[in-house]
Amino acid sequence: MSVPTLPILMYHHVSPNPGLVTLSPAAFREQMAWLARSGWHTPGAQEIEAFHQGQPLPRKSVVITFDDGYLDNWVHAQPVLAEFKLKALLFISTDWIGSGPLRQGPQECPDHRSCKARIAAGDRDGVMLRWSEVEAMAAAGTFEFHSHTHSHTRWDRQLPPGSARQEALTADLARSREILVQRLGSCSRHLCWPQGYYDPDYLATARSQGFDHLYTTERRLNAADQPPLRLGRISTKEREDSGWLKRRLFVYSHPLLSRLYMRLQGDR
Ligand SMILES: [Zn+2]
Repeated sequence: MSVPTLPILMYHHVSPNPGLVTLSPAAFREQMAWLARSGWHTPGAQEIEAFHQGQPLPRKSVVITFDDGYLDNWVHAQPVLAEFKLKALLFISTDWIGSGPLRQGPQECPDHRSCKARIAAGDRDGVMLRWSEVEAMAAAGTFEFHSHTHSHTRWDRQLPPGSARQEALTADLARSREILVQRLGSCSRHLCWPQGYYDPDYLATARSQGFDHLYTTERRLNAADQPPLRLGRISTKEREDSGWLKRRLFVYSHPLLSRLYMRLQGDR
């Protein structure tokens, strides 16, 4: 019998301005509705840990992940996950999360480029989550929150390889852990690399800081018998129907098929 594999979906934005790493609310809803209708289980961090320790998950299991922590996740993704009783892991850069009361009703949710521009210009609160929203999402059981570092800095672009770079990353991870513990009571072993970048030094640093479930942006099969240090994820796309998701999940949850698929066809 072949070793079970666990597909992981990667989302960033759900907003009425679909495009780069952004799905429209209608497309996201269609995908979540299909998952729920087809009986897919969406495990949380603890179940993922158990899976890599040899405990089986239901055959139809898929992990939903979100990166960064945009306001649109609260406005447009949270209600859909709640409606279909699905769970997602959200990797937040703790420095980007603001304070203030929960935002209710329609909100402006700009596209990815505008969000990045607003963050760069110092207006994080206009586009990122607040801790009050993070707490509400965690309490609802729709989202779990995990580390995406504190500052989302690509230290490999700031510093040459060596001890100064490792110290900077160490401090970044430690700060993120500290804030997650302060705000949410705990910080898990799950970490997602900003822009998917990692190298052997990064891996060693993450492990020394207590992170041993590491999420990349690579296409890679997550087999139960492999250490979860390079978890692959499936990029999601704006599509009118859920057919492509169905095909992806079919392929990614059948190890032999997916190896062939990756080798022969690529993943477009
Ligand atoms: Zn990110």
